[in-house]
Amino acid sequence: MRSPLVETTARTGTATRPAATAAIATHGVTKDFPSTRAVDEVDLHVPRGALVGVLGPSGCGKTTLLRLLAGFERPDAGTVEVDGRTAAGEGVWMPPDRRRVGMVFQDFALFPHLDVADNIAFGLPRGRGRRQRVQEIIELVGLAGREHSRPSELSGGQQQRVALARALAPRPAVVLLDEPFSNLDAGMRAQVRADVERILRADGATAVLVTHDQEEALAMSDEVAVMREGRIVQQAPPEDLYHQPADRRVAEFVGDADFVCGYAERGQVRCDLGCLELRHPVDGEVEVMIRPEDLELWPDPEGESVVEGREFYGHDQLVHVRLASGRRVHVRLGSVSHVEAGDRVGVRAVRPLQPFPEACRLGLCPELSADSTAVRPRESGERTAAGPPEGPAGAGEG
Ligand code: ATP
Repeated sequence: MRSPLVETTARTGTATRPAATAAIATHGVTKDFPSTRAVDEVDLHVPRGALVGVLGPSGCGKTTLLRLLAGFERPDAGTVEVDGRTAAGEGVWMPPDRRRVGMVFQDFALFPHLDVADNIAFGLPRGRGRRQRVQEIIELVGLAGREHSRPSELSGGQQQRVALARALAPRPAVVLLDEPFSNLDAGMRAQVRADVERILRADGATAVLVTHDQEEALAMSDEVAVMREGRIVQQAPPEDLYHQPADRRVAEFVGDADFVCGYAERGQVRCDLGCLELRHPVDGEVEVMIRPEDLELWPDPEGESVVEGREFYGHDQLVHVRLASGRRVHVRLGSVSHVEAGDRVGVRAVRPLQPFPEACRLGLCPELSADSTAVRPRESGERTAAGPPEGPAGAGEG
């Protein structure tokens, strides 16, 4: 169970917090390669004891940022702090082995000729306590009895746990994990992911997890930092990131969403779906984000919306609906509701929606023409969107 680590601003969900709590932090850190700026003035903040996911598409600079934290790259500008001390920048350079940073690589990078215990002991100073720490960490990662196995005798998930144990053994200030699950097949991933999270939390470790997999980032992290073109565009707890993305591109990258333009006033927006509540009041032309689970639908033979198709996933289904206006939206339903292509339905939003005024201000909403009903301000006394009939007929499950 996650605990709240930060307060977030209502507008963007961007984290605000006291600076002193960071296990690792960067301030304006920048890295240029000959043909590209891989990391561009990044401010990352990783609270002690937190698991922070760095999420972004391929090439956005995630690995370079991790290498800057570890000390495998030198920044061209900005600073890196580990445990409150400057590790890079302002004329300081601390090599990787002095940073108290543990690494878990994509390919695990275990020594094939060493057994489990020796792989884990590798980074530990010789002396009293070494053997005890190795045994303690072997038990933590659930490999008791496999101390003398070689990596080739272990499954991918077990090798992953050895790599994690080796990184945790010296009690680092932070563990950095670079796409640690990408070499595991889909069937193993969820279990190994859960194991890794449990181990990190049981050890009280601070961790940064780099991934391009949004589900992985949302499921494991206390906070997620979304990277785009070398920059962190939003760092926030998963729930805030999902429900209050900083902009449309974050919204599209983290989860499914439809976007509908309309005219907002008095905390509501008038659009193709009727009059809907907004998460926070804005006035004028806006685009609103609609997640599939923000909508519900119900059978309505008189309805003007029509089911065009559905994708059945087992645990739920995604229904494609064409509204009277011709706009298409998606509605997530539980797996037991039955709808078919061609069914007429009613559709409504079940919770307030996130507005993005920027797209309309920038003239990016082609549908907002002067005669569009979507932009017409509400007339006084006009009703808000109708809901499903009372009783058990509704197909929506919220
Ligand atoms: P992926 O998810 O595909 O691993 P990423 O988000 O980790 O991508 P990086 O590997 O950090 O992205 O790369 C960011 C940018 O920097 C890319 O344009 C990449 O081509 C470039 N880059 C990375 N390392 C180097 C290097 N050593 N020399 C030149 N360019 C580099």
